[in-house]
Amino acid sequence: MAKINAHYNKLGAGYLFPEVARRTRLFSAANPDATIYKLGIGNTTMPLTPAVIHGLKKGVENLADLKTYTGYGDEQGNSRLRKAIVDMYSKEHGVSIEEDEVFVSDGAKPDSANISSIFSADAIIALQDPAYPVYVDSNVIAGRTGSANGVTYDGIVYMPCTERNGFFPDIPTRKADLIYLCSPNNPTGAVATKEQLKAFIEFAIKNRAVIIFDAAYWSYIKDPKLPRSIYEVEGAKECAIEINSFSKSSGFTGVRLGWSIVPKALVAEDAAPGKITSLWNRRQTTMFNGASNIAQEGGIAALSDTGLAENQKIIDYYMENARIIHKCLVEKGFEVFGGVNAPYLWVKTKDSMKSWDFFDKMLKEAHVVITPGSGFGPSGEGYFRVSAFGIRENVLNAVQSIRDNLK
Ligand SMILES: *Cc1c(COP(=O)(O)O)cnc(C)c1O
Repeated sequence: MAKINAHYNKLGAGYLFPEVARRTRLFSAANPDATIYKLGIGNTTMPLTPAVIHGLKKGVENLADLKTYTGYGDEQGNSRLRKAIVDMYSKEHGVSIEEDEVFVSDGAKPDSANISSIFSADAIIALQDPAYPVYVDSNVIAGRTGSANGVTYDGIVYMPCTERNGFFPDIPTRKADLIYLCSPNNPTGAVATKEQLKAFIEFAIKNRAVIIFDAAYWSYIKDPKLPRSIYEVEGAKECAIEINSFSKSSGFTGVRLGWSIVPKALVAEDAAPGKITSLWNRRQTTMFNGASNIAQEGGIAALSDTGLAENQKIIDYYMENARIIHKCLVEKGFEVFGGVNAPYLWVKTKDSMKSWDFFDKMLKEAHVVITPGSGFGPSGEGYFRVSAFGIRENVLNAVQSIRDNLK
């Protein structure tokens, strides 16, 4: 008799975004004349740039000709793309990575869910609270946690990110083996400083822990003092895996392309240098058949000088949205965090209103959809997330409606 993986029964049923959609639908049905403005979802809206489209088309055209057709490629990725990634690390971040430490993938979300499979089933997980939900859920499914206990799971080390610590956590005070860090952070928009990363790196090296560093929003960092890659900080190659994506930097949310860096210097309690890189290689060659060859041509184009310059303009466009939203919310008397080196604003509700109550108020009064902070973890209670990934007209309309209608 087949039995299901009962760990799935522990999951909080993907409560956040379906519940946002449900409440929005109910409101629309009751108020059919109301125009709803969405500032909720972390999805890109701007079309791909000419250089990227050119690359994608080349990828398609290659497939039309016997001489250039390719079937399965290397599971680790197209060697030209891996080289382009290595060059970008060295040129833009002064970090030297070797090509066989780069693993091209179909995105940062799958990688951040899959990476823990190469670590022990009893590894203790530490997470930023609030956090991108996949880090928690993938480890619940893998059986690394106990049952859900209200809004948290037993067995996970939650690292609160609050106003007190500038929304970047202090190092764990308990044993932690796998530490997930996301900077710039979704949902808080906070970016770790070099000193903050250094403290985690020192903790990890001392305890033979491994940091899973999600850098999906690195292109949004404007401040040159802030590290974009964790490898800008000394010691990181011994203790950190970096996960990245073309989704937010180049609009590949629907195209699907990302990469992970698994350095050969990385060690764990029972893994000498090189071992973890070869495990991830084994995992990928066994369970993954490589990213789309069309998408990879698009990725190579996105990392060309023209591609990078074109995408910078789109990032600037989204960050102008962030500035517009920031200004409006501050004028309305809100305390606003993030939104400067990240496309998310993290906003405190007034009078300690609960996140979901504020969601309802914003929808009812201003017809604007935001994301309740409590959906990202217990420390998100009393906050809401606003996304800057909109088209300008929609952002301006949303902001006007907040100005005019939010009481
Ligand atoms: C959007 C996002 C990603 C990107 O995931 P892809 O699978 O590459 O589209 C990764 N991490 C975080 C925190 C994100 O918000």
